[in-house]
Parts: sequence; structure tokens; C-alpha cells
Amino acid sequence: MDKQSSEFLNNNDIPCVMDNQIEAYKLNLEKSQYSERDIIFMRMALKEAEKAQKKGEVPIGAVLVLNDKVIARTHNLRQTTKDATAHAEILAIKKASKKLKTWHLVDCELYVTLEPCPMCSGAIINSRINRVIFGAYDSKAGCCGTLYNLPQDARFNHRPKEIIGGVLENECADILSKFFKSLRNK
Ligand SMILES: [Zn+2]
Repeated sequence: MDKQSSEFLNNNDIPCVMDNQIEAYKLNLEKSQYSERDIIFMRMALKEAEKAQKKGEVPIGAVLVLNDKVIARTHNLRQTTKDATAHAEILAIKKASKKLKTWHLVDCELYVTLEPCPMCSGAIINSRINRVIFGAYDSKAGCCGTLYNLPQDARFNHRPKEIIGGVLENECADILSKFFKSLRNK
């Protein structure tokens, strides 16, 4: 694990045993291919994370893409809205569904700067999103491989075809660790 991510993890008091599990999962994911195109959309998601940070929100951003077109760009708004469900991914799914006038986001790709939590992983399954690309791994709540791999559990009827983690991982983890550091220094 690189220095920045281990710093982020250590800041969150993760037991060491998790590191091995994450490493094993990452090795598995590294077999997946991501492209220059994925990096471009992840950069957009990072821009959204920066917007969240400016509002004093935990900096997490998401972008939902259909046929190379950005359908929704959102960021975490939990504090602003005082709503526990206002995660970047949920807001992206809601926005895209409204725009496309369907709950069925079957050909869509979701880019998000942090590994989706159980709630967002459930929303990914229910909205039929085809592909999930995330940045930093989340040892505390990650459900796209770290704690669970909900969207790819074969017992579910519908699953995304692909989940890729670690795209711009350092930058996605760094904005979070800096944010938490600044909170502690207040
Ligand atoms: Zn979530």
C-alpha cells in the first residue's frame, strides 16, 4: 500500500489485519483494466469532492455516465441536507433517474471517489448500474470488495458487470485524509 493510503487508513484507526485483506482484494482488482477514459471521469468526480470540501462536507464526489455523456455530477451533502442518505452516489442516482425519466440505469457507469458503503451498494444493485469505478478503498464501510462485495454477490439477480477500485486512489484518499486532519486541528 502506498504511503498516502496507509496514512489515511491509520488516521482512521484501522486494525492491521484489514491491510492484508485489502491488499489481497487490490491484487484481484488490479487484474481489471481501467482506461484513460476512466481517469478523466474520476477527475470530474474529484472536482465534485472538492466542492463538498468547500461546504465543510466529507469530500466525496460522484459522476454518472451514460454512453460517454455525463448525466449527473454530485457530491456528499449529508451535513447540508441533514440527511444520512445524501451520499454522492445516491444523489447521482436520483439526479440521473430524474433526467433520464427511468429508475433503470442499466447502461450507466458510476464513478465515485470512495468505495461505496452498504446503502450505496444497495442502490447500485437496485438501479441496475452496469459498471462501478471507485477511487479510494474504505476499510470502515466499503461494500464493493473491502468489507463485503455486495454488488457482485452472485445470489443477487442483477449485478454490475464490472467493479474497478483504486482509480486515482492517492488523490481520492488524500483529499479525505487532509479533510479529517483539518477537523482534528480545529
Ligand atoms: Zn454511501
